[in-house]
Amino acid sequence: MNRKYRKTVIAGNWKMNMLASEVKPFIEQLKAELPKTRACEVVLCTPAVMIPAMIKAGKEAKVAAGGQDVSKFEKGAYTGEISASQLADIGAKYCIVGHSERRQYHGEDDMLVNAKARALLAKGIQPIICVGESLEQREADLTMEYVAYQVKAALSGIDAAQLRKCVIAYEPIWAIGTGKTATSAQAQEVCEGIRAVIRKLYGARPARAVSILYGGSMNAKNAAELLAQPDIDGGLIGGASLKPVDFAAIVAASNQE
Ligand code: PEP
Repeated sequence: MNRKYRKTVIAGNWKMNMLASEVKPFIEQLKAELPKTRACEVVLCTPAVMIPAMIKAGKEAKVAAGGQDVSKFEKGAYTGEISASQLADIGAKYCIVGHSERRQYHGEDDMLVNAKARALLAKGIQPIICVGESLEQREADLTMEYVAYQVKAALSGIDAAQLRKCVIAYEPIWAIGTGKTATSAQAQEVCEGIRAVIRKLYGARPARAVSILYGGSMNAKNAAELLAQPDIDGGLIGGASLKPVDFAAIVAASNQE
């Protein structure tokens, strides 16, 4: 982390878990566990139907609400989709785009991820743009090449002012939900590489200001070491964000200097 230049973000991704009725008790327990002072933004990205409950319950606990997906379209005949204006209207502050599960199960490609990020930015929602390599790509030594391509594609047409609202999450696919975490050195290497790609695209200052998160089996035990890396500015956390004690411990780990 480097708090001098950028904000630390600890974001949970609840995926398709929990119920709206469980949000309030979860936040009450989380609030009791969270450190009294914290140096990061805490976000929970929930299924869209829970965002209003998260905003209500999260206000006092200072937990921001985020979505997990958005339509690239503004409005119209797109049954089942949710637009960026609809997310903004209910008060979502962040939204994940390009999560590997959406790329894998819903065929989302880099162009669509870019369109979704731009749709969010147009409505004042901060996209958490996920990138990351498969195990085959890592083993073939293609990690940085592939991740650099994903970053460039996701940021296409996004200007430096909009970049300041973007958060990048490096999530090696092989580490998501598997219990296998990238080592802090592996995660740092790719996050540093992502910053270098952004530096080439936008220059030194914007690159220095972008928050880059690590995601992939981050938990209460490994968070401190990952977050101590200079280019890792927080975490995107799946499994451990469903447990208030564990999620609060990750927030506490981000308090380190
Ligand atoms: C994720 O879904 O973004 C994620 C990182 O999941 P987990 O922490 O469970 O690996």
